[in-house]
Amino acid sequence: MKTAIATVSIAGDLREKLAAIATAGFDGVEIFENDFLAFDGGPAEAGRMVRDHGLEISLFQPFRDFEGMPEPQRSRAFDRAERKFDLMHELGADLVLVCSNVSPLALGGIDRAAEDFRELGERAAGRGIRIGYEALAWGRHINDHRDAWEIVRRADHPNVGLILDSFHTLARKIDPQTIRSIPGDRIFFIQLADAPQIEMDLLYWSRHFRNMPGEGDLDVVGFMRSVAATGYDGPLSLEIFNDQFRGGSPKSISIDGHRSLLYLMDQVRRLEPNINLDVPTMPDRIRVNGVEFVEFAADETETEELGAILHTLGFQRTGQHVSKDVALWRQNEINIIINTEREGFAHSSYVVHGTNVCDIGLRVDNAEATVERARMLGADLFDQPVGPGELKIPAIRGVGGSVMHFIDGTSDLSRVWDIEFSATTDNTAAIDAGLTRIDHIAQTMNYEEMLTWVLFYTSIFNTGKTSMFDVVDPAGLVRSRAIENEERSLRVTLNGAENRRTLAGYFIAESFGSAVQHLAFETNDIFATTEALSANGFRPLVISPNYYDDLDARFGLEQAFLDRLRQSGILYDRNDEGGEYFQLYSPNYGEGFFFEIVERRGGYDGYGAANAQFRIAAQKRHLRPKGVPKI
Ligand code: MG
Ligand code: MG
Repeated sequence: MKTAIATVSIAGDLREKLAAIATAGFDGVEIFENDFLAFDGGPAEAGRMVRDHGLEISLFQPFRDFEGMPEPQRSRAFDRAERKFDLMHELGADLVLVCSNVSPLALGGIDRAAEDFRELGERAAGRGIRIGYEALAWGRHINDHRDAWEIVRRADHPNVGLILDSFHTLARKIDPQTIRSIPGDRIFFIQLADAPQIEMDLLYWSRHFRNMPGEGDLDVVGFMRSVAATGYDGPLSLEIFNDQFRGGSPKSISIDGHRSLLYLMDQVRRLEPNINLDVPTMPDRIRVNGVEFVEFAADETETEELGAILHTLGFQRTGQHVSKDVALWRQNEINIIINTEREGFAHSSYVVHGTNVCDIGLRVDNAEATVERARMLGADLFDQPVGPGELKIPAIRGVGGSVMHFIDGTSDLSRVWDIEFSATTDNTAAIDAGLTRIDHIAQTMNYEEMLTWVLFYTSIFNTGKTSMFDVVDPAGLVRSRAIENEERSLRVTLNGAENRRTLAGYFIAESFGSAVQHLAFETNDIFATTEALSANGFRPLVISPNYYDDLDARFGLEQAFLDRLRQSGILYDRNDEGGEYFQLYSPNYGEGFFFEIVERRGGYDGYGAANAQFRIAAQKRHLRPKGVPKI
């Protein structure tokens, strides 16, 4: 498969864009005329620069308001086309996109348009140029790919073909199955874009909210399956208009784009086994069986503090690494590692971020296959020298430069605790608080990074994304969504901060980057847990009494039950099906890290979104006066 991306999709000047696009692994670019116009060299130089980056010009665009014009505009449109052909010749581009006419002057009529294209095709043929016709979703007369195809069919010229754009088809809710009857060799080019499902003006939606396939809600997979069924084997190109991307890092947006195409075609290949597609074969999306460990990087003083907190949470210090300053704390299925080494990755993570979660270990069926899939999707592999007697555990880079290790049952990896750790006895044994496993890991990042990590998690792992919801912080909104697998053995919540005055934004600023902001442990009996915690000396986050009055008003709870929640500082939520959620929070540690304890009853599957604003208000009270500026 050949991949391309429109220069309009990313930030930078033409030179920066090409460098980022080439580095991400694309084969070609769509040159957007404006990007060329803003370039300070001539067309031949621009073309050379593209080829010097190892790229080809897959398409030149756009050519607007061409078909169906009355005279004298019709003749002028042909003159304009001739000048574009001159430019394309110098650039070294042989395919131009003509989008359907939006001019109020344009006349309707399939045959009239077909005739214009036949003539344009004739002129283009003399110049070795091909014309691709695309129906804009808001075109004046042509806004449906079926009509555009009819025009191309009737134009009946070898240099005139169809361009399909997933956004224009899917935004108008046109069934992509209708593409299957179009001969693949009459389709000259495929543009792909996804978008979040928002009801708004089509033009505005398209120009500002497109995103990479897999990042939005449109059925781009269904669209591409139909395209594949036609036998089309030309380039697959991203044409993404997105305000955020145009202000983002050209490098990381390009990497996301390339990953999105590989992931899209991996899905199409699996769904259309009878179509012979030129697509790389990679392992299936990885099933995650659980979180095996979470590792903190810390120094000696902070490791004492962190250990003391874990103690109040009912953890026992059960192991010490055979050769490193690495301690294992355990409670039932939960393994927490504290790494105070003075060298290696954990140490450099500590130097940059302070005490933080530097590493997450996931249980998978096959660790090698996991890394192989991640590698093929452009993830950075992680490797550091291992000491004598240590296992080489496959790993990749995750959010904020952290590391994800993979543990499986096919090798010695599952025995890592026995092999690398010696048992220690904890003299200050805490009372087991009934924390059974990690329910979710909450990662905080700048809002602009959220789509990157949504695509990262959903493309590598067999997971899905929930819809986005807004968490109200007194200083602004935090956008939140969860990545989950079907078994719910992996739940990661992504929280995107838009400014640094929110608790999430403050956390990112103070810890120098995206990171895990809270860990939620599961209990099967929140009330028994609170008793054990209290005996261990744990002090929960103090919640405003107003919260409990509101809770009563919302759910009409039994007085005794409400009192119990209030006394223990437990937050409560209930869904329409009667599922219940209990949440208990620790205060903030350091720059805003905290622990959460949750109990789910009756199939409750959410994260207590309605409670988040009360939790944040309580945490902000707790942080002052040193912490978050008062607003
Ligand atoms: Mg397009
Ligand atoms: Mg949570």
